[in-house]
Amino acid sequence: MNQFSRRKFLKISAATFGTAAVATGVGSTLSKTSAKAQEKAAKGVKQIPTYCDICFWKCGAIGHVKDGKLWKITGNPLDDLSKGRLCTRGTGGVGYYFSEERLQQPLIRQKGTERGDDKWVVVTWDEAFTFIADKMQEIKKNYGAKAFSLFSHGQGGAFFKHTLKAFGSYNEGAPSYAQCKGPRETGFVLTFGEHVGSPERVDIKNSKCIALLGVHIGENVHNSLLQEFSEAMKNGASLIVADPRYSIAASKSKFYLPIKAGTDIALLLAWMNVLVTENIYNKEFVANYGIGFEQFAQEVAAYSPEWAYAETGIDPELIRESARELAKNAPESVIHPGRHTTKYGDDSQRLRAIALVNALLGNWNQKGGFFQPNSIKVPAYPYPAYPAKDYELADNPGGMWPFADEAVSTGIRETTITEEPYPIKGWFVYATNLIHSMPDRQKTLEAIDNLDLLVVTDIFPTEITGYADVVLPESSYLERFDELFAPAFRRPSILIRQPIVEPPNGQKPAWWMAKKLAEKLNLGHYYPWNDIEDYLRTRVESAGFSYDKLKKDGVVYGSTKPLYESEGAEMNFYTPSGKVEFYSQQLLDAGFDPVPKFTRHEEPTPGFYRLLFGRLPMHTFSKTQANPILHDMKSENEVWVNADVAESWGIKNGQYIRLMNQDGVMSNTVKTKVTEMIRKDCVYLPHGFGQTSERLKSTYLKGASDAGLITNVKIDPLMGGTAMNLNFVTLVTEDSWQG
Ligand code: SF4
Repeated sequence: MNQFSRRKFLKISAATFGTAAVATGVGSTLSKTSAKAQEKAAKGVKQIPTYCDICFWKCGAIGHVKDGKLWKITGNPLDDLSKGRLCTRGTGGVGYYFSEERLQQPLIRQKGTERGDDKWVVVTWDEAFTFIADKMQEIKKNYGAKAFSLFSHGQGGAFFKHTLKAFGSYNEGAPSYAQCKGPRETGFVLTFGEHVGSPERVDIKNSKCIALLGVHIGENVHNSLLQEFSEAMKNGASLIVADPRYSIAASKSKFYLPIKAGTDIALLLAWMNVLVTENIYNKEFVANYGIGFEQFAQEVAAYSPEWAYAETGIDPELIRESARELAKNAPESVIHPGRHTTKYGDDSQRLRAIALVNALLGNWNQKGGFFQPNSIKVPAYPYPAYPAKDYELADNPGGMWPFADEAVSTGIRETTITEEPYPIKGWFVYATNLIHSMPDRQKTLEAIDNLDLLVVTDIFPTEITGYADVVLPESSYLERFDELFAPAFRRPSILIRQPIVEPPNGQKPAWWMAKKLAEKLNLGHYYPWNDIEDYLRTRVESAGFSYDKLKKDGVVYGSTKPLYESEGAEMNFYTPSGKVEFYSQQLLDAGFDPVPKFTRHEEPTPGFYRLLFGRLPMHTFSKTQANPILHDMKSENEVWVNADVAESWGIKNGQYIRLMNQDGVMSNTVKTKVTEMIRKDCVYLPHGFGQTSERLKSTYLKGASDAGLITNVKIDPLMGGTAMNLNFVTLVTEDSWQG
């Protein structure tokens, strides 16, 4: 039984945090010192290239410093991911520097208090690392080095990973796999033998027909993707959008398919059926590169548009016409695979179905489809060898998810709870608010309850910091060097992140913290470099590039190999057969369907609606809500409710209601957006709001948390992804919750 009640969680106390600051006065003193130092700094405007950290797109950016003070941040015109422009969030990134809510000093939980009590002692960096190192040695003595795990999201995690590996701990995971893109990568690896990758290798700017299934380009902003999407639309590309909600993208579509949520596989099977039965698939591509097409064709013969109509609610003629539109423009025709793909539990098969329609269009390594990405392999720093790993990793014991090819973060959580195959007693959490980023919050708290050490590194006092034993305040991306970024994209490149300004209160970068911790653990020899720039220079120069040029330009490029088959791109498929696998023998051998099948998912009971969630253009996950600039643009979310449904409940547009899920979990109050633009069987909530850390006054109980309402989670049997669209909510009006 978890010892932390929600009430205790909500108690995360502003008073305690205030005490810490007042007791030392460190924050305000350093602020003044820093301000004076800045005044003395050189007059004029300096431009320092870096790359953005507000989302994983990691656009090249330029920080502008005017008269020694941070002025603005703009896109780096030399960079392919920003193309000289930043999105709203990227431009608002300077808000991190100016926020008054940031963590300022290292904190250790007060002796005798419990996690969630939020009682802290401000300590020096040295005291913090001594505390962590002592505890780590104790845990290692009792359970072995394998009893630690890192959860990270962001470039700085690489340094903590290095320290932990040097210590003998190899367990690590990122919610970006099992809670997000994992099923997509599995579906595409099973079909084409390769990941889609990040940034996605979709050649959308050259596409003549684009299909989006629950993909919200425009609301979920990835800079160059949105720019290229706009370019394609301007060039007359036709757009097909299947979504239960009339999204921004849907408003630009030629074909809008108001699909019943959870039935995408039925639509995809019907598209396959039309392409095959009407003989309009790309026969040359299939003949040259495919395997198992005949068995595949037999399987999809059963899925006519009429069959799909009963499941999806989409007119059979609309299914036929949209399939023909895809075929007509092939191979410059693509179904974008999206990114957040953990929805219904059969997600790897759903994404395999997307891969299969793309394969029928023959768009792999083709203009307007998927290009062959290029990247620079930057050699690792020549560190000493790590201790041997003589244990099974904790994220996927026994290989229970046979097609997982990255760590399953929720698998580590499960092992922490069950202690099988061995106990996990220490978590390092870097830049991810696990309370929001992993579903089934109660399980996260249960796992935390089983830990002997929880160390959290963050910029803000997010919810997860409330449970930590030690909190380490990180400098923002505007104030630090970081790991290099070498994306696989059209042109191979390396980007550098470098400080634009000093951290306002002596916060430290991840590389510095990880190095200091290693020294405390007597592992200093794993950091033979003294300065981060020695490390970066060594790596960049060993890749054959000038470090000084990289610092000056922010990005350097290698030579580009062909992107498309027509230009000479090699057509290698890294599947067991070396072909595009229309019928998957490896899935069959592992006991799964060789061609995806449609299964019906749980339906809402009367009075309940499926909870769908997504993003807003000015926020990323739950990490930008406390940025004052972005917060000013949108400080709370709204729940979309169909107009007829709202009328039946007597709910007006703008009225505050609560949502209660199938397990009786009630949300904070949230404003209703009454609209015709959503089906009657679902509601929609932008993600990341309704936060419960009182120390973050700007975000405290602002809007409703989708993550808090996701208590029913189904696991993808292929790769361990956590499906989250299986939760239902009813609407609760003020008279009900007060009565
Ligand atoms: S898409 Fe926006 S938030 Fe993401 S890295 Fe680029 S500028 Fe930053």
